[in-house]
Amino acid sequence: MKVEVISIGDELLIGQTINTNASWIGAQLNVRGAVVEYCSVIKDDKAVIKSALDLALSRVDVVIITGGLGPTKDDITKYALSEYFNSELEMNEEVLEHVKSFFAHIGKEMLDVNIQQAALPKAAKVLKNEVGTASGMWFEKGEQVVISLPGVPYEMKQILSDSAFDMLGSKYGYEVRYNRNIHLQGIGESFLAERIKDIESEMHANNIGLAYLPSPGLVRLRLTGTPSEDDKDKIADYIERISLRLPQYVFGNGENSLSKVVGDLLIKEDLTLGTVESCTGGAMANEIVSIAGASQYFRGSFVSYANEIKTSLVGINKDDINKHGAVSETIVKQMAQNGREKLNVDYCLSTSGIAGPNGGTEQKPVGLVWIGMAGPSGVVAKKFQFGNARDRNVRRTILTALNLLRCDLLKINIEKS
Ligand code: ATP
Repeated sequence: MKVEVISIGDELLIGQTINTNASWIGAQLNVRGAVVEYCSVIKDDKAVIKSALDLALSRVDVVIITGGLGPTKDDITKYALSEYFNSELEMNEEVLEHVKSFFAHIGKEMLDVNIQQAALPKAAKVLKNEVGTASGMWFEKGEQVVISLPGVPYEMKQILSDSAFDMLGSKYGYEVRYNRNIHLQGIGESFLAERIKDIESEMHANNIGLAYLPSPGLVRLRLTGTPSEDDKDKIADYIERISLRLPQYVFGNGENSLSKVVGDLLIKEDLTLGTVESCTGGAMANEIVSIAGASQYFRGSFVSYANEIKTSLVGINKDDINKHGAVSETIVKQMAQNGREKLNVDYCLSTSGIAGPNGGTEQKPVGLVWIGMAGPSGVVAKKFQFGNARDRNVRRTILTALNLLRCDLLKINIEKS
């Protein structure tokens, strides 16, 4: 089944709304084994909608449209479809009842424009919207299908999950795929590809797909095969081999985030954690407490952004700051060590860096980050050179620090880089 997603809405074209509908639909269809071949974003305009449909129906089996089904004047998708399929609007009594009870439930007066939402093209099969007032519609043109859905993300998701995905499955059949992931931190895609090229060639020869899916500081490897026992076994074997080869980088193969993996290890060992943060400004503590149950191991944090706070609150030696600078091995070590004592924790992570985009020098360029870790076996510091984007640098710092801790907890030797 080949699919095109058409997202309608001026707000998408001007960058005011991010087209998360298309990415969600793409991901959902991908796990079901359907292929999204095209995604288009178009404006709320009848002529544009019709020509986009002409083009889409010239190249795919299924077109999924989102947006423009609301009650206001600028919502014209339904009218465009009514003309496109040459099918008049007709009041649908069942939908009208639903719209009425929807308004009764929320205790609001119903306007004529709301009643009009129950008028749908005769040719359309109605896809019930249990969480809103704009119904989804299913049109057939020969062997092809056009589905129209509201743009509101949770309404669109509900309609697809409740009915349309199953209806597509019954009509075309999904080619079921089996996917598993490996999550890695601290290694870039190209280095990773180099380190696993022999395993990747084997996968290729055995028809197991491998996708590299990077995000700041992380890479997810997705292995894909058929749901046969043979492919499942092969995939499990590849996952094990990659995990054993790169233990410093592989932190999981399930759904768990790195902070959850670290949290579980701390709970298992009955150890506590704190942070002393400069360039991450508390974002590492925030990442840690985003995990439910973090109170079992996380005790607190100093956000010592200014040098005066580093000295007055964390007890960092002022002369050392003057001598080495705040972004230095000496200072992150002191931050981690003092934090460990003051917060009374087993482990303390510290960060100090030049997050950018300004503030770099020749010796200390933007993206230079020192991470410190004080733990039961002493204090260490590591230097990293990240990029120029501030938010990415902060994110990479947090993930790198958490992975250092994970490696220490699991007694994994860190490779020289
Ligand atoms: P209504 O007008 O009743 O809200 P609708 O079906 O007309 O519903 P839109 O007007 O297109 O839908 O969008 C409604 C909301 O959903 C808006 O907040 C819009 O920004 C958001 N939205 C629309 N399309 C998308 C999309 N592709 N991805 C994410 N959000 C979207």
